[in-house]
Amino acid sequence: MSGYVDVHCHVAALPTKDNGCRISEKMLKSPAARMVATLQGLPLDRPEEANEKYLAKLISEIESSKKLSKAVALAMDGVYDSSGRLDEAHTEFVISNDYVASACRKSPRLLMGASVNPKRRDALDELSRVASLGAVLNKVLPNAMVFDPADKALGPVWKKMADLGLPLLSHIGFEFTLIGHDQSVGFPERLIPALEQGVKVIAAHGCSNGVFFGEPHLKTMDEMMAKYPNFYVDLSALTLPNRVGALLRLARRPELAGRFLFGTDYPLPCLSYPALAGGLGAFWGAFTAGNKFDTQAAVLEGLGLAPAADPAKVLRL
Ligand SMILES: [Zn+2]
Repeated sequence: MSGYVDVHCHVAALPTKDNGCRISEKMLKSPAARMVATLQGLPLDRPEEANEKYLAKLISEIESSKKLSKAVALAMDGVYDSSGRLDEAHTEFVISNDYVASACRKSPRLLMGASVNPKRRDALDELSRVASLGAVLNKVLPNAMVFDPADKALGPVWKKMADLGLPLLSHIGFEFTLIGHDQSVGFPERLIPALEQGVKVIAAHGCSNGVFFGEPHLKTMDEMMAKYPNFYVDLSALTLPNRVGALLRLARRPELAGRFLFGTDYPLPCLSYPALAGGLGAFWGAFTAGNKFDTQAAVLEGLGLAPAADPAKVLRL
C-alpha cells in the first residue's frame, strides 16, 4: 500500500481496570481534555465506551483517507522521579504501551508508537519489551515528562535505542496543552546526544517554537541536518496558528524534503487556510478534502512541501 505514514497520531484513552492508562483529576477537567471529548463525542463518564469510540473513529478516518496508508499511534509515558519511579503526583496522564499495542491489533493501519521515559529505572528493559511488541518508534515529550534529553546519564538509553533500531520522536517547542515545566528541554539541540549515539531522531512539529512569534529553532535545525544524516523532522501540527509561521518558512526549503516526515498530531485539527499561500486552487483542494489526514496532505502538497523522507528507512518497520 502506498501513501503517507502519519508518524504523529495520538491515542487518547481513559483508565479502566486493566489498560494501564492514567489521568489526573486536574487533567480530566482541563480545557484540552474537554475539547478532545467534545470534538470526538466521547462520554467521559464511561471509559470503556469512550476508549472504543475514540479508536473506532481514528481507524475509520484512516481507512477513509485517500492519501494515508498508516498511522503511528502514540503512547504517552508519565513523569519519573530521580530514583526512576513513576511520580504519580506530577503525572497528568499516561497512555500505556500495552494499551497502544492492543489498539494496534485492531487494525493493520495502526503502527505502535511506544513511549518510554528515559528516566525510568527499567527503561532498557521496557525498550526491549516494546520493540518485541512491534514498536516502530519511541515518543517522548521532555517538557511534560520532566527530563533533559541532553542529560549525560541517559547515554545508555540512547545506545539501547540505537541497538534496537528504534527511532526517537521528540516534541519540540513550547508545550501549552500539557502543563509545562522547564520549556528549554524542548529545544532541538538537546537531542544531539541521541543523534551522536546513532539514534534516528525525529524532531516534531518541523522544529517550530509554538508561540506565535519568531522561530529560533529553524537555524538550529539547519545546522543539525547538515551535521547529522540521521536527523529528521515531522510536519505535524503546523497548520495551527501558533506554528504556521514555521510551515511557511519550511515551504521555502524544498531541498530538505528528504528529511521531512508526514504527521498531523491527530486529534488536533488540520486547518486548510495555510494552503492559501499556495494559491486558491491549493486552498480549495485542502478545504474540500473532507478528511483530516487528506487536509494535512493537501496543505503540504499545495505549499510544495510534500514530505519525502521514506518512512521505511526511518521507522523500525
Ligand atoms: Zn503531539
